[in-house]
Amino acid sequence: MVAKISSFYRDNKQLVDKQYRLFKSKVNMTYKEMVDWKKNKCSRAASIKIDEVIDRVTRLLRKPKTTWTLKDFTDSKKVVSYISRATKISDSSTPAKRKWGCMKGKNFYALRNWAYDREKEKRKPRRNPDLETNGKIYRLERALWSGTYDALPRLLTYLRQGWICDDCGKDDLLCECEKCPDCNHNRCVCDFIDLDREESRKKVRLLTWKLAKENLNDEELKYFVVKTINVNHLSHFHEYPEKVQKEMMTIYNKVY
Ligand SMILES: [Zn+2]
Ligand SMILES: [Zn+2]
Repeated sequence: MVAKISSFYRDNKQLVDKQYRLFKSKVNMTYKEMVDWKKNKCSRAASIKIDEVIDRVTRLLRKPKTTWTLKDFTDSKKVVSYISRATKISDSSTPAKRKWGCMKGKNFYALRNWAYDREKEKRKPRRNPDLETNGKIYRLERALWSGTYDALPRLLTYLRQGWICDDCGKDDLLCECEKCPDCNHNRCVCDFIDLDREESRKKVRLLTWKLAKENLNDEELKYFVVKTINVNHLSHFHEYPEKVQKEMMTIYNKVY
């Protein structure tokens, strides 16, 4: 089923795109997880307007941004602002509802009602400033996560010549030394352009994963894999080609 584009989206595309990204970066539970969570008794252990809160975010998780209305837009702001505020407070040590077996604090369950699971926080990779600012990892992530071929020219240029090109002195985004006259990209992506979206994504991800294995050392590759899998909801890991998922999981399971 192809959802109809809302007039609100058509008129406010950039605004909605930005808000949608923000919304997605805050929540860390899926639509399915929220449906299950609502049936869990502990969802009743916190929040006042429980059903309203859960239904609101659940609806947003399922709705494509292109169908968003003004109400969806303002509702997403409520979610963003609640999660931003509540995650700054640590969870209470008093069980929210001992007799129901809900042993976490109220804050924990309230956040889940807003599609934020504190338990997922612990699985975040350890912060490592060197790896986080690593240009290779950053550019590989962009290509792998998005699956769009637009990310490839910059990635390929960076891997071949680093940040600044010795020939033209420009950075990896601007260097046109290898520009392709056919596709007009700074590195040739002709092979990807005529494919349908799914095929193109698959091919981009297979290539990016191959490049990651060839260009990252063991420590970098582990970090790259763990981060990608742990932020599945942002990286769309579950949509990757089977081969990529399998090989990444093998590395992931060795780390944990
Ligand atoms: Zn150059
Ligand atoms: Zn080309």
